[in-house]
Amino acid sequence: MNDVKTADLPISRRRALLAAGAAALGAPAALAQAPDLKNVLKDAARQRVNDALGGTPPAATGGFGDNAAVYHFRVGEWKASVLLDGLAAMPARPIFAPEATDEQVGAALREHFLPADKVGMTFNALLLRRGDRAVLIDTGNGSGMGAAGGRLEAGLLAAGCTPAQVNAVVITHAHGDHIGGLLKDDGTPRFPGAEVYISKAEHDFWTSAAPDFSKSRLPEEMRKAAPATAAKVFKGLGAKLKLVSPGDKAVDGLELIDTAGHTPGHMSVRAVSGGDSLFVMGDLAHNHVLMFHHPAWTIVFDTDNAAAAATRKKWFDRLNGERTRVLGYHMPFPGLGHVKKYEGHDSYEWIPEPWSNPAP
Ligand SMILES: [Zn+2]
Repeated sequence: MNDVKTADLPISRRRALLAAGAAALGAPAALAQAPDLKNVLKDAARQRVNDALGGTPPAATGGFGDNAAVYHFRVGEWKASVLLDGLAAMPARPIFAPEATDEQVGAALREHFLPADKVGMTFNALLLRRGDRAVLIDTGNGSGMGAAGGRLEAGLLAAGCTPAQVNAVVITHAHGDHIGGLLKDDGTPRFPGAEVYISKAEHDFWTSAAPDFSKSRLPEEMRKAAPATAAKVFKGLGAKLKLVSPGDKAVDGLELIDTAGHTPGHMSVRAVSGGDSLFVMGDLAHNHVLMFHHPAWTIVFDTDNAAAAATRKKWFDRLNGERTRVLGYHMPFPGLGHVKKYEGHDSYEWIPEPWSNPAP
């Protein structure tokens, strides 16, 4: 949110920006009403960013307004495009690092030249094209974030692909900022020609009669709202929704990898082609500072915070060891980079990739 100094904004607009944070999981009202979030999200409930901003989305979206933000690169034979769905300012507390104090989180952010009280969160969906195949990995927020999200379709068109041309969608997990773009506002599938792959474990968790949040710090109110969001999307997809397991060969050329932790059926995706590779990590981390320098720090949206941290560390070690190129859904746009490990320390660094491999 480089262009927006929230301290200078009118109160109503600041509240709207905070509401954007709450909306990311597809349940703005519920999160805003959670007792332990009251102080940061006071009065933000049910308030759409659009409403409060009175039709000036550039201020809410870091200045990119109606522009599509697209970054093209290659993964061997795959033509790859990162499609920025949006950019939201999340309140740092109590969303991030529930294990730490306000002072520790503020200091970690300030040390990296970031505001101490909020976290700019990007949403980087990926389009992979090869021959007549057009595969999306995650779909952004849809209309669930107001002006701070929902740019995916504009990005897709800017990349020269229509929604009807998408023939497969892989979903890393069923949070609103990843599945929100699957349906149009009228409830019908946005990608009518696409089969949508999600792990069976993920689907079964969110559609079970009583999802187990006993290991989660998710605010009480969201424990009903988040499953309702997922169920609505699954229903709207109907037979287009395909349940898979990690290791299944659902999409030719893509490996589905079990990275459960943040959610019970979270999957990452590895694309390997022509000696090149990309690891699409999804939500193994939600911020390029907090969860790298302090990998045990989690986020309230984890369904199992301890498992999320363990999975993060396991894969960070592996990605560092393999020197794997990574795409992070919530890393700063375009979200490409590497994970560096500081040997001997329980600490990592996100190293953004310079523009070294543009598509020809
Ligand atoms: Zn996410």
